Amino acid sequence: MLPVVALVGRPNVGKSTLFNRLTRSRDALVADYPGLTRDRQYGQAKVEDHPFIVIDTGGINGNEQGIDALMAEQSLMAIAEADAVLFMVDARDGLTSADIGIADYLRKQNKKIFLVANKVDGIDADSAVAEFYELSLGDTVHKIAAAHGRGVTQLLTLALTPH
Ligand code: GDP
Ligand code: MG
Repeated sequence: MLPVVALVGRPNVGKSTLFNRLTRSRDALVADYPGLTRDRQYGQAKVEDHPFIVIDTGGINGNEQGIDALMAEQSLMAIAEADAVLFMVDARDGLTSADIGIADYLRKQNKKIFLVANKVDGIDADSAVAEFYELSLGDTVHKIAAAHGRGVTQLLTLALTPH
């Protein structure tokens, strides 16, 4: 079984952009993965000769109350299937209440979680991501620009390293 990496986070943080970058030009969509549904998209990807499966999710509706409402069912299932979870936040928008709700849920899961601040292109990345350390998810806020590829190989290499 290949390792499975799930992309989760609220809508518009760049999950599908990262998914598309990771699965680009390799006829990557997995059609027959167990549990496949229309609302979770599975792709094959590879970084530095390490193959893996990546799951894109439709995102989490931050307008509702309670963690079950906050996190869409498909995101919960993707987290459960994953060996590593990339929890994506938007470095331009800053910390939102939806991010805090998702983090509260993820902290209780027995998973490798990587907090990933996307869209750090063209901004002062270090100051933009400082507030995300409040989420207390690991020692590092990983800075990427999915649209441009910045930080992506480094992040995935880390996520795929057995702990
Ligand atoms: P999703 O809803 O989480 O899947 O987010 P999308 O991948 O659809 O991206 C939402 C928006 O953010 C789109 O307009 C993307 O072009 C933009 N976006 C994604 N990644 C980046 C990035 O690295 N930098 C910038 N500036 N914009 C990005
Ligand atoms: Mg998307």
